[in-house]
Amino acid sequence: MTERPFRIAVAGSGIAGLAIAIALKNHPGVQVDLYERATQLREIGASIALGPNGMRTLDRLGVHNALVDLADDAANGLSFRNTSGYPMVYRHYKTGEVVSTDPSQADKGILKKHWTARYYRAHLQESLAAHVDPKRIHLSKTFAGVAWDDAKQELTLTFTDGTTAAADLLVGADGLHSRVRTFFVPQSRPQWTGALAFRSVFPRSHVAHIEGLPHEATHVWGHDRTLFFSPLGRDLYTVVGQLQYDPAEDSADQGGRDLKDTAKVWASNGSVETLRSLYADWGSLVKNIVNAVPHTELYPNSSSDSLPTWVLSGTTGNIPAGRVTLAGDAAHAHGGAFATGGSLALDDAWAFASAFQHVFPSTSKEAPKTADLLRAVKIYEKTRKAHTDRLLRVVHASNSARVESLRKSRQPGYFPETDEQLRVRIRSRTDPTWLHEHDVQATFAAAVKEIEQGLVVQSRL
Ligand SMILES: Cc1cc2nc3c(=O)[nH]c(=O)nc-3n(C[C@H](O)[C@H](O)[C@H](O)COP(=O)(O)OP(=O)(O)OC[C@H]3O[C@@H](n4cnc5c(N)ncnc54)[C@H](O)[C@@H]3O)c2cc1C
Repeated sequence: MTERPFRIAVAGSGIAGLAIAIALKNHPGVQVDLYERATQLREIGASIALGPNGMRTLDRLGVHNALVDLADDAANGLSFRNTSGYPMVYRHYKTGEVVSTDPSQADKGILKKHWTARYYRAHLQESLAAHVDPKRIHLSKTFAGVAWDDAKQELTLTFTDGTTAAADLLVGADGLHSRVRTFFVPQSRPQWTGALAFRSVFPRSHVAHIEGLPHEATHVWGHDRTLFFSPLGRDLYTVVGQLQYDPAEDSADQGGRDLKDTAKVWASNGSVETLRSLYADWGSLVKNIVNAVPHTELYPNSSSDSLPTWVLSGTTGNIPAGRVTLAGDAAHAHGGAFATGGSLALDDAWAFASAFQHVFPSTSKEAPKTADLLRAVKIYEKTRKAHTDRLLRVVHASNSARVESLRKSRQPGYFPETDEQLRVRIRSRTDPTWLHEHDVQATFAAAVKEIEQGLVVQSRL
């Protein structure tokens, strides 16, 4: 065993940060410390979905407390799953008819415990935190910067309160607006896409009286906005309305100035009256649901381009390559598209931990050197980045298409989409299977082979 544990510092104790700590907690030579900006792991946020890939990773990490509610809809279980086996059902805004579904998970033979599940985000975070030693979660620690101490061969992290911490490796898992990412790549700051979500989570009792309320996660599409609703675990319910603004225009040019002006603040208070007015001409099912929503919060959607590399190093602080990387939204600021952020964060965490253990197995007597860490970060990057880059390309294309269609709708002579064209658009939507059923284990095995073989070839040259 090494003299002292190898110290991994993680900025952020969201889904990715907690999962990294869990994945490495049984490694006798490693200590993972989470430095979290929040003063406590609070109940903010709304619903979060995990697809089969995220559920399998939770299972692999041993987070069985998040999987235990195997009854199809245990009101007191931690999450909710559509009993039909269709992860999502799509309805028409006016008629309420089912136009399409995502492919059946039952038909594909996916284990029921791995079916797409929907959580109140705070519950998922709690279930992960239950597996992490609270002494290793340092609250009120906002990452500000990092430098390399050549004499001590270690990183020095600085926080906004003026304190510092030493570490051997840093993972930025500090979310969409990651300070770790912008410390190394300042131009990667996310931009508002113009999309704005009204997210609400409340007790199911508020909607229990609604006649014909589907008991499944449902996405209702209209011509220029959508509404998602679903039961969650622990007797909760969520409603999410989403609409699109033109991010390039002044708010004064587009009705809804009040919304756009607040749109850049994450989770600010929204008005239920505004939410109701947005769906006033939709069918009765949707109107009954939004009328029952007791409160709502506004979540602007932001994203940024994919990074050239996840191997962060360079002149800032003289950090050697292999000592800093990113995970979760910090690595791929995709703005939550396709409800895949939670699963991606879990898969990132598993892939990072696996790559790290590949170069530093728990039986190893010697701590990894910078060259070993660089190998680990390259394997991790190889496992994940092509996948998340593909997602970012899809996200940017669909964001641009939404803004473009908004602009077209304001031009003279514009023919509005017909209800039949809307049905066609719903049926021809992007198939998210490649995201929700991605096999991170197989991709990792291929990445190890490719990176290790590449290194062997290089060493022969
Ligand atoms: C409060 C909150 C509410 C959310 N609500 C939803 C939701 O309702 N639905 C949904 O789909 N997604 C939501 N998300 C995003 C979702 O959690 C992520 O998309 C996904 O789970 C990826 O997880 P992550 O760990 O990469 O990022 P996150 O879950 O965003 O975690 C990042 C963590 O880093 C911390 N942090 C940020 N900056 C710093 C810093 N400088 N130093 C130290 N710590 C820092 C944050 O406080 C947070 O705990 C929410 C995120 C947060 C933080």
